[in-house]
Amino acid sequence: MSAAIIDGKIIAQKVKDEVKVGVADLQASHHYAPGLATVLVGDNTASATYVRSKHRACQALGIRSISHELPADISQPKLETIVKELNDDPDVDGILVQLPLPGHIDEEKILSTIDLVKDVDGFHPVNIGRLAMKGRNPLFIPCTPAGCMRLLAETGVDLNGAEAVVLGRSNIVGLPVALLLQKANATVTIVHSRTRNMESHLRRADVIVAAVGIAELIKGDMIKPGATIIDVGINRQDDPSAKRGYRLVGDVDFNSCLPIAGAITPVPGGVGRMTIAMLMENTLKAARMKF
Ligand code: NAD
Repeated sequence: MSAAIIDGKIIAQKVKDEVKVGVADLQASHHYAPGLATVLVGDNTASATYVRSKHRACQALGIRSISHELPADISQPKLETIVKELNDDPDVDGILVQLPLPGHIDEEKILSTIDLVKDVDGFHPVNIGRLAMKGRNPLFIPCTPAGCMRLLAETGVDLNGAEAVVLGRSNIVGLPVALLLQKANATVTIVHSRTRNMESHLRRADVIVAAVGIAELIKGDMIKPGATIIDVGINRQDDPSAKRGYRLVGDVDFNSCLPIAGAITPVPGGVGRMTIAMLMENTLKAARMKF
């Protein structure tokens, strides 16, 4: 038996279609289009590509987007001032500061400066803190973790009491995914670089979310038959036969897991598609909160 492939393209398109309808409703009821401001510091090529994709998605859905491209040597106070101006700008509903920021910038301070009601990336410490607390909900959930949860929901996975193993404990993926799974009543184990026996944890997992950044780390013989696997990893692997000389692979060895798992996301075409869709959803939510 082969696992069901969880199609991130289709599910992301569904989210975007919902957002498009929501944006049109807001236009009709309040003559207002949501606005997303992006802040890009420096000339990191990957970051610039991500930001461009976010602007394209906005355009397709009727969301206004405002771009701030700033030099790599911008000072901390200057960057804070720009974020504060965006906080005060009534035409801006969501603020996205593209990470990573240059080393001399205090990232946490910048993320804390973003107004909570405009924190569409969900990285404000208060939003993350609320994720961790029983009975509290963040205003915004970080986009990639929210995308993972939507993929699980669309797949019909019952998380109640399920054994979930999250690989990775980063602030932007692993930790918030683990908190979300726990909120959904899964029993969660976080596996990280210091974990002694990764495989023993993986073998009992009904749900695996992999966010490590090591190509094809998880093999088919490490997982429980029927497990649902969400692969967040995006890794370049040399491939002379590919046009660019490399191909993208996840943290999961797709081919060896496919016959064992119950459902699995491909890379590309899985989680990656969801991140921007969830950002669009958060931006619409921010605009709705204004009214
Ligand atoms: P990170 O480097 O910040 O964190 C990696 C985590 O993996 C750490 O917590 C570390 O403890 C853990 N780790 C390292 N080696 C390990 C091992 N051998 N076993 C278990 N855990 C180990 O990375 P990140 O920003 O969380 O990203 C993880 C991956 O997800 C990367 O491949 C990244 O490109 C990808 N990513 C994808 C999206 C998307 O939209 N699909 C978004 C963000 C990140």
